[in-house]
Amino acid sequence: MKVAFFNTKKYDRSFFELTNSKHNHELFFLEPKLDAVTAPLAEGCQAVCMFVNDKADAQTLEILAAHGIRLLALRCAGFNMVDLKRAAELGITVVRVPAYSPYAVAEHAVGLVLMLNRKLYRAYNRVRGDDFSLDGLMGFDLHGRTVGVIGTGKIGLIFAQIMHGFGCQVLGYDPMPNPSFAAIGAARYVELPELLENSDIISLHCPLVPATHHIIDAEAIDQMKPGVMLINTSRGALLDTKAAISGIKSGKIGYLGIDVYEDEDNIFFENLSDSVLLDDTFQLLQSFSNVVITAHQAFFTKDALQSIADTTLTNITQFERGLPSQNEVKYQEKVIAKSPA
Ligand code: NAD
Repeated sequence: MKVAFFNTKKYDRSFFELTNSKHNHELFFLEPKLDAVTAPLAEGCQAVCMFVNDKADAQTLEILAAHGIRLLALRCAGFNMVDLKRAAELGITVVRVPAYSPYAVAEHAVGLVLMLNRKLYRAYNRVRGDDFSLDGLMGFDLHGRTVGVIGTGKIGLIFAQIMHGFGCQVLGYDPMPNPSFAAIGAARYVELPELLENSDIISLHCPLVPATHHIIDAEAIDQMKPGVMLINTSRGALLDTKAAISGIKSGKIGYLGIDVYEDEDNIFFENLSDSVLLDDTFQLLQSFSNVVITAHQAFFTKDALQSIADTTLTNITQFERGLPSQNEVKYQEKVIAKSPA
């Protein structure tokens, strides 16, 4: 099958080319992001492969359909950027990678906790400049602290297990409780306000759906402990960034670690070091000494990339052979979705 891969980087190509030896599809790697302007680049292909910050809105899908695209293969879990209703109307099948490496994301979230707590980002730069003083680097023991996990699915569960390993108490909030979470020693489910009020560290691991948009807003931040550490490796719009900035200024938020940002679409995954970044909110966020930002790299391990390539190419092969796929995303699924990661 001829597949146009949008928004590809060198690392995508190497994993997909290697894995494709088992599938023999014709892969065309394109650098532009998918949108209505770039969609015609898929001319001559039957399938399109896209990533998290590509857009498959109604207009883009119509152009793709007019160019003969019958399959949209997402090389990610989330599908909030696809107009599933229009895709269904146009007869475009949508498939995704529902899980690749939950360990990659959970471990990165823990990395942010350690980096913020022990101020490793400051210590690294200090020692490189022959400044061996310790003032300003004091952290706290994780042992005995309370960690709140919002969303206890695949990633939240692993994050909770790791934090339990540090000796933390773990509180979880999830409308669909996970028995494996409840089985972690010292972990218990509570309602969201209780989690917000009692956690020293709060980590977001729920999907972005209308119900979770700005789940952490000014009101939620008000309920948190003074000096709380907030971690978001899930989706930018779970956190109201402006409310977070106010919380940092007031001292309510003592530490903020994010791998995702509400308006990351035009920033992340690109080297913009030669240009002027015009996003004032992002610039302000960057200026705080207790904020650590990584650019949507939590998934970025070789294990996860291999898994993404395997599943995506298998999804395409199954479609080509007319086989049903459990990774198909149907319009109805979005309406009733519990957890579109
Ligand atoms: P999952 O579907 O296994 O778990 C999500 C959990 O969130 C489910 O248990 C669900 O019931 C729960 N949930 C749904 N609505 C909720 C709500 N209102 N409040 C609290 N919990 C709610 O998904 P996962 O694989 O664990 O992924 C979690 C999220 O991580 C994804 O949605 C995605 O946004 C994000 N993610 C980020 C990266 C990255 O590189 N930064 C990579 C992969 C996934």
